[in-house]
Amino acid sequence: MSVLVVGASAAGLTTVEALRRKGFREPITVLGAEWHPPYDRPPLSKQFLCGDWDEARTRLPPEAMLSALEADFVLGDPAVALDGRTVRTASGRVLSADTVVIATGLTPRRLPGPELEGLHVLRTLDDAAALRKDLVEAQRVVVVGDGVLGCEIAATARKLGLPVTMAGPQAVPLEGQLGPMVGGLLAELHRSEGVELRLGTAVTGLTDVDGRVSGVQLADGDVLPADVVVVALGAVPTTDWLEGSGLRIDNGVVCDAYCRAADGVYAAGDVARWPHEDSLLRLENRTNATEQALCVAANILGETQPYRPIPYFWTDQFSTKIQVHGRPSADADVTIAEGNVADRFVAHYRRDGRIVGVLGWNAPKQTRQHREHLVQA
Ligand SMILES: Cc1cc2nc3c(=O)[nH]c(=O)nc-3n(C[C@H](O)[C@H](O)[C@H](O)COP(=O)(O)OP(=O)(O)OC[C@H]3O[C@@H](n4cnc5c(N)ncnc54)[C@H](O)[C@@H]3O)c2cc1C
Repeated sequence: MSVLVVGASAAGLTTVEALRRKGFREPITVLGAEWHPPYDRPPLSKQFLCGDWDEARTRLPPEAMLSALEADFVLGDPAVALDGRTVRTASGRVLSADTVVIATGLTPRRLPGPELEGLHVLRTLDDAAALRKDLVEAQRVVVVGDGVLGCEIAATARKLGLPVTMAGPQAVPLEGQLGPMVGGLLAELHRSEGVELRLGTAVTGLTDVDGRVSGVQLADGDVLPADVVVVALGAVPTTDWLEGSGLRIDNGVVCDAYCRAADGVYAAGDVARWPHEDSLLRLENRTNATEQALCVAANILGETQPYRPIPYFWTDQFSTKIQVHGRPSADADVTIAEGNVADRFVAHYRRDGRIVGVLGWNAPKQTRQHREHLVQA
């Protein structure tokens, strides 16, 4: 039985590693759109972007471990179509296998308009290298986006000593995800570190001079001057290549509880959406990429494992580490379960009286202990 994994990153690679660990010795091909061997994305907005890490340190397995997997890595050649279990690539390759795993992640949203110098998104290693290069000479940076990635990029640019403005529609960063209390603390953190916040106003466009970005236009008529602009307005599942495949595509590749999208076709990581509790869920975080890929590998080998994770993500901003277990939401009741907001704490998010999320603010050990509430729930 052969396996073809489309997407050579966290979820794709973990699927291969898990298959081999479980004793699968049949041929595996891994198809990747980028030329780089598998690398990790979380450092791209943090250690790599600020220059503390070089490219080699972002690599997922070292070279020797990658070759020990005895998988055929076909890189720099994106899949353009899937027909049954046959994939066609941009260069015209045709690859067939008994099992196909879709792990193509996300594509960042962009603002409408032309490509401009100084205008960036951040998803890939090449994106990060280009942004890092521009930040070295930047005079004024505007980050468009008040979500996790926008916050991390703003924090890193401040770490580099640059004047930074964060613009976005929410009243406080991450309000929609973590609610006003934690969002308010994040706003305070960023302000105290020197980030200028222009929140609560939509961004309507960009200004440019001679092909270079010169500012960000806000709905209230103001223009924020900038020579480097990073757009961090979220990302959409990379499923354009699956058009015509017959798979159900709806905000991701829709799977069953076993991460199966069709007979012999699985999906894992940011691109996958599957039934979880009372709805279809898609997660965009590093831990999910690993855990879902482990489940997919098990199911390829015939273990019927439903995928039932306790979602988890972390974010590092300045010297603050925020860890989130479960599914908090803006409308949940938030209480401080341990510690205090002036320093470090663990918060519980409750809906209908039930704890649905645990958030730790610089409290890794305590947060892990509180996660137990979700396990029992
Ligand atoms: C800058 C940044 C920082 C992050 N920081 C954190 C963090 O602090 N904490 C956290 O929990 N999560 C973080 N994340 C999210 C985390 O990195 C992702 O959830 C994780 O990478 C998802 O893995 P994946 O394999 O599903 O998708 P991806 O890592 O996106 O990999 C998809 C791969 O598929 C390839 N591909 C796309 N289309 C095709 C095609 N047609 N054919 C072949 N290959 C294709 C892509 O080139 C890519 O290599 C961060 C993400 C980014 C971008």
